[in-house]
Amino acid sequence: MSRKNQKKLSSWRETWSITGKLLRLIRRDRPRVLALRILRDIWSALTPYVGIWLSALIIEELAGSRNPDTLFRLVLAALLSAAAIALAGAFLNRAMAVENAGWYYYIRKFLSDKMLDLDYCIVDETRTQSMLSTIYQNQNGGGWGMERALSLVDSLISSLFTLLGGIALTVTLFTNRVPAGAGNMTFLNSPLFLFPLLAVMLAVIFLAPMLSNKSDSYFALNSDVHNMANRLFGHFGFLGYRNERAADVRIYRQDILCKKYNYDKTSTFNSKGHFAKLARGPMGLYSSASAAVSGILTGVIYVFVCLKAWAGAFGIGMTTQYIGAITRFATGLSSLISHLGEIRINTSFVKQVFDFLEQPNVMYQGSLTVEKRNDRQYEVEFRDVSFRYPGSEQYVLRHVNRKFRVGQRLAVVGPNGSGKTTFIKLLCRLYDPTEGTILLNGFDIRKYDYREYLSLFSVVFQDFVLTEMPLGENVAAAAEYDSSLARSCLEKAGFGERLESLPKGLDTFLGKTLDQEGVDMSGGEKQKIALARALYKNSPFIVLDEPTAALDPIAEAEIYSKFNEIIEDKTAIYISHRLSSCKFCDEILVFDKGNIVQQGKHETLVSAENGKYRELWYAQAQYYAEKQA
Ligand code: ADP
Repeated sequence: MSRKNQKKLSSWRETWSITGKLLRLIRRDRPRVLALRILRDIWSALTPYVGIWLSALIIEELAGSRNPDTLFRLVLAALLSAAAIALAGAFLNRAMAVENAGWYYYIRKFLSDKMLDLDYCIVDETRTQSMLSTIYQNQNGGGWGMERALSLVDSLISSLFTLLGGIALTVTLFTNRVPAGAGNMTFLNSPLFLFPLLAVMLAVIFLAPMLSNKSDSYFALNSDVHNMANRLFGHFGFLGYRNERAADVRIYRQDILCKKYNYDKTSTFNSKGHFAKLARGPMGLYSSASAAVSGILTGVIYVFVCLKAWAGAFGIGMTTQYIGAITRFATGLSSLISHLGEIRINTSFVKQVFDFLEQPNVMYQGSLTVEKRNDRQYEVEFRDVSFRYPGSEQYVLRHVNRKFRVGQRLAVVGPNGSGKTTFIKLLCRLYDPTEGTILLNGFDIRKYDYREYLSLFSVVFQDFVLTEMPLGENVAAAAEYDSSLARSCLEKAGFGERLESLPKGLDTFLGKTLDQEGVDMSGGEKQKIALARALYKNSPFIVLDEPTAALDPIAEAEIYSKFNEIIEDKTAIYISHRLSSCKFCDEILVFDKGNIVQQGKHETLVSAENGKYRELWYAQAQYYAEKQA
């Protein structure tokens, strides 16, 4: 990967501003978790020093006056303090465990809540899907993101207090002087020796984590390569696990494709791959250098403390205290620096999450209420509407003018890609027109409360989605529902007999994911359930996009024979490729290349020479005629 494709590190200013924003968010939602985490960090950083300090006093006493009373008191204090620390630590952990319940979902629900809240047109954009996928990849593949940021803040606080505790127990190492009688060893007291020694120690303490951060940063800066490989593996690595794909995999030998992607394209992780190269090269070198430098530091500390003890500056007890405390001090300082570096590296990943969460909705949300009318007198009009999808130059609809008359049955036909579904998406305000206006009872639909406007439409899209919840809940799209209404909608949609055959009736789960006794429905059965769901919603407009595509001819004929009963007094819009099934509609709109090129009744359209409808009609009729011959 070239340098210019690499990510950039965030500035320190951005690092603190984003970390602060995250902490404020947690304080707002889960203040007790935050408080307990900080308390635990401080507790775990400081309590080891109690043991170090008391042990030093015991050893000092043993090596000195050996007073049994003093020894007894010191040992008792050491035991009691260890027990008290362990007990308080256990209480703290228990409180944390209680407060942490649901944390896993809490930290992840930001993204799913945002996706539910975003305008459809934003969710539909490739950019949104790609942002979301990158965030998941960073989180699951590299462990970067919000959770990492919080655990780094924990580590930072813990390192800071480790450092402070270490300083408190080490100050006297430098102030305790070697006695004048120690001869040449008095050089250990000299500032000329002490200051350079401190400088070298500090330099080494800084150097070790900086080298380690440098090594880590290669991984973060190359996260795009990592994510791509992870994505490929996420797709091809698990293709064999999915039973709905098992037939395709065998018929089209997709196993060969899987192996190719698993072994060749994701070689990023192999011994010859991108990360192995980095590990052999700079990443590995920096990490080894960091470990070596830390080793040198520990050696220097030991030599200095031992020399001073040997020269008589302090006894054996203090020697153990200094060794213990200064080692912890060095660990604290180096982990402080290393975690600071890591927080900075991680910030660009947290920023991606906030960028996603903070993207605003773009559709204007009006506040006009949609009048509740029992007579369903809702009239929608397209007035010179043109549309292109965001980010695309090409118009998908051009200058569409159309009024939907109340109670009318309208068919929409036309070749693939002519704009039929897009027309419906504009009608339901999933997108706003690029030019022109759509009006409801004379007012721009943007002025209405969005949810109220949406409530006017029941739509069965071609790619409708049912949930793996019980049948009745699917039909009602709610957990609480009117079961006799759900039953009658299923009957109208042609599902009555099948419903009778289900021992658990409306309580039958769809699919086996959530219930072993769930039932896998066929494509046609699912389509009937989706139709029943649209009927249950009972909106003034019903839109059916190829509502019988998955049905067998008998089921299809049954639906059409009952169409008037099904639709009742609703305004119905019906998209179909089977022109013969549009004949019963009051009017047919013919789309071609984003324009309404013809409109009228079947008889008029089919007799219009050179018309698109006639062309489509005869193309299908000829197909049937040939089949029959
Ligand atoms: P139809 O329903 O008549 O088959 P559509 O309305 O689905 O046609 O599509 C019309 C055109 O809009 C097609 O060229 C299609 O590729 C394009 N299109 C559909 N959805 C999107 C989208 N989300 N982003 C960009 N282009 C799209």
